Amino acid sequence: MHTVQKSEQAAVGKLRTEQLPALADAHAHIDLLKDDGLLKESINRGVGTIVTCGVDYLTSVRALELSDYSTIFPEVGLDPENALLSGNVIDAVCELAKKNSARIVGIGEIGLDFKKAASEMEREKQREAFKSMIELGMALDKPLTVHSRDSIKEVLGILKDSGAKKVQLHYFEGDDDDARTAAELGYYISVPPLESRKRASAIKNFPIELLMTETDTPVVGKAPYYVEVSVRIVADVKGIDYYKAAEILTENTKRFFKINAGGMAGSESNIRV
Ligand SMILES: [Zn+2]
Repeated sequence: MHTVQKSEQAAVGKLRTEQLPALADAHAHIDLLKDDGLLKESINRGVGTIVTCGVDYLTSVRALELSDYSTIFPEVGLDPENALLSGNVIDAVCELAKKNSARIVGIGEIGLDFKKAASEMEREKQREAFKSMIELGMALDKPLTVHSRDSIKEVLGILKDSGAKKVQLHYFEGDDDDARTAAELGYYISVPPLESRKRASAIKNFPIELLMTETDTPVVGKAPYYVEVSVRIVADVKGIDYYKAAEILTENTKRFFKINAGGMAGSESNIRV
């Protein structure tokens, strides 16, 4: 359980300390979670919304299979690392997304990762895949979950030029200027459960209504309940109460991915591969 400070406990009163705030993990890889118990524990601790994504064709199918549309919601996508592997994977992922359009909440994980690209040829392959995924998301009117390691300025440029409007910058590593550009474009930033002075500075003046929390489970956080740490980071940076931060961040995630209590039309139908 997250630690609630004494003053906060006094401020929120008895009733609220007994209630767990509803939390949302806006970016996870549930297919990589080895221990099912960690997922159950996360749900028990109040994580009621988890967006799980694919990184290639098979993991995207897995994201669809793992989704229950009450807690877990899928994205389909091709990430920069897998963009380097083979030629037809772009088409395969696009087909999968189109066939299951009513069942997915977004296109992810996509983007650029120049740490993983050794040559200009590899960077070019990543750009090609990224642009195809942006086009796919825009054609299907789905939000994009974007990875941008060592490439945030170019990522922002490509997204802007493409006219993309619904963007989640996951694991944001940009500086204050990049955050300002993102805010001007109406893009969301999702905050991982890791302290970082640079990120704290970048989100300090970033609109809270464009923030989300994520774990990148199991890559960064061990399980979706690590969003408790992300919520605490946002609450501290913004100088607001933990519960208030949780409420706003969960609201933002549901709005961004169009997740509502009524579920998704089409989610009952069979997965089409
Ligand atoms: Zn990820």
